[in-house]
Amino acid sequence: MSRILVVEDEQHLADGLRYNLEAEHYDVDVSDNGEDALQRLTADTSRYDLVILDVMLPGIDGFAVATELRKARRFVPILMLTARGRSEDVLNGFGAGADDYLTKPFELPILLSRVRGLLRRHEWFREEAAAQSSAPASAPVASTFSFRDRSIDFEQLEVRVGEKRMPLTLMEASLLRYFVQHEGCPVRRKDILEQVWGVHEDTDTRAIDNFIVRLRRYIEEEPSNPRHLQTVRGVGYRFVANPE
Ligand code: CA
Repeated sequence: MSRILVVEDEQHLADGLRYNLEAEHYDVDVSDNGEDALQRLTADTSRYDLVILDVMLPGIDGFAVATELRKARRFVPILMLTARGRSEDVLNGFGAGADDYLTKPFELPILLSRVRGLLRRHEWFREEAAAQSSAPASAPVASTFSFRDRSIDFEQLEVRVGEKRMPLTLMEASLLRYFVQHEGCPVRRKDILEQVWGVHEDTDTRAIDNFIVRLRRYIEEEPSNPRHLQTVRGVGYRFVANPE
């Protein structure tokens, strides 16, 4: 049974979520503030498969919870609940390490389908990677992609350098895969927003830049002097596996 932590301070909403998730046979815990949620999620005994995380919380907010969680190298999938009409919340959420988002107020069936989707996405990731590696005509992205001294494993969601393993969030892996699929080609920030994050709004794209900073830490020898994940002025970014 999948275990879900709901982080929501509005009690009627938290109760409703618990009731409906339990009806779907999930094991549910509720936390009404960020500090408590972080404690539960970073405890050695923590065994959550998914976090539903509200942005607006008393004390530290949902962005801070996500940021701290990723800093602590915890990679549990995060579904973030943001306020409608605040696209910057969505971008900040992804920047902080969220894997998907839903704007409030939401329809319950949509929330449940997002939950199922996130719980299964790791599995989809494997299937898609396997399908692509067995179909030579499609973009050559197998379950792993190697360049220089490192390899990205899209099944295990990690970057390996020798013996060292750096875990990735689902979203980091999705973004890296998008770059690998477009190896050598400039990728616009808008394409990343639409194709990887599913955000179809004219909006500030700085959250992507923060994400790129994170990805460079995984794949660059000198993150401040990137050779693989290059900035293309006025456009966006380009991934180059074998730079000159
Ligand atoms: Ca709230």
